[in-house]
Amino acid sequence: MARRTLLLYAGVDSSDFSHADFESSRRYHRPLYLAFGVGLALSVAVYSFLAWSRIGDRLWGAVDELGWAGSAAVFAALVVTAAELVRLPLAFWRGHLRERRFGFSTQTAGGWLRDRAKAFSVGLVLATGAWTAAVALGRAFPASWAAPAAAAGALAVLVLSFLGPVVFEPLFNSFRPLADARLAAELRSLAADAGVPVRDVLVADASRRTSKVNAYVSGLAATRRVVLFDTLLASADEREVKLIVAHELGHRRDRHAAKATALAMLGAALAVLVLWAALGTLSPRDLPVALLILIGLEVCGMPLGAALSRRLERAADRCSLELTRDLEAFERAHVELARRNLSDLDPPRLAYLLMFTHPTPPERLALGRGWAANS
Ligand SMILES: [Zn+2]
Repeated sequence: MARRTLLLYAGVDSSDFSHADFESSRRYHRPLYLAFGVGLALSVAVYSFLAWSRIGDRLWGAVDELGWAGSAAVFAALVVTAAELVRLPLAFWRGHLRERRFGFSTQTAGGWLRDRAKAFSVGLVLATGAWTAAVALGRAFPASWAAPAAAAGALAVLVLSFLGPVVFEPLFNSFRPLADARLAAELRSLAADAGVPVRDVLVADASRRTSKVNAYVSGLAATRRVVLFDTLLASADEREVKLIVAHELGHRRDRHAAKATALAMLGAALAVLVLWAALGTLSPRDLPVALLILIGLEVCGMPLGAALSRRLERAADRCSLELTRDLEAFERAHVELARRNLSDLDPPRLAYLLMFTHPTPPERLALGRGWAANS
């Protein structure tokens, strides 16, 4: 293992991470990749069972009499709830027990379950609404429901991206403006340099859930904002915070959230077309099969989505260096982020291709040094 690490990162300064760093990141992540696969298999098993078993037929029989809208909504609620219950133990292990064992979680089991219940409720409302709307369009336009449904799916993605920061994120965290006036002023001038005047740099109370550090941009148009975890502010020095904010400003300057939303809208419309081609006329009973098709499409789309995301992340990393011209802070920030979050330094190829939305920390350090060497 050690030799493989050396060979892989022969071009990267090996003093960035110790052998122990590689080992602990591997110990943390390998079981999580396995859990992702098991979770996927569980979803496929539940939906297949509900699609083709007698019990699935009986469940459908219990709601069949409720009229088309009632049966679509109640069947969707039952299917989504069944899948949640089957996946819950694994999710609890992955999201709570393991996070505790590695010292990340700052939550009680009850707190974790409350978060999960909230997320489930949101998902339940969205899934039930989406399926009932799809069935309604299928009844109104039996042969051509795909066109209005694809447009509605794309529109729903747009609306959810816009509403995310103001409707959904506050369900899980509270946000306040950055209190440190001097740092806030510096970040605003950084934003002016980037050509993206920032309305809001907000701090999220992430520490109520985790000790991991992070920052992100979300929202569209009037709901755009840069969000810093309070854990990041507590642990990083000012140059590192500036570097990380510069990275997020890079995302905003190059309209990455808008591009990702446009891509997701296209993906939603294409998914509807595939469902239409596979299912033809739509019956409320088709939901488990529709979900199986959607899982298949999602897995097929993951390598493309991850590759595009890594590309945007590299652009944002370059922007953080152009704005700050501070390679030292770049190196320290990415080494610190990786150590604190136990980022996977050497992921298996398949995990990298499917789910690495960011380059690995050694790749990011190499990119920063390459940028510095050429500028
Ligand atoms: Zn980023």
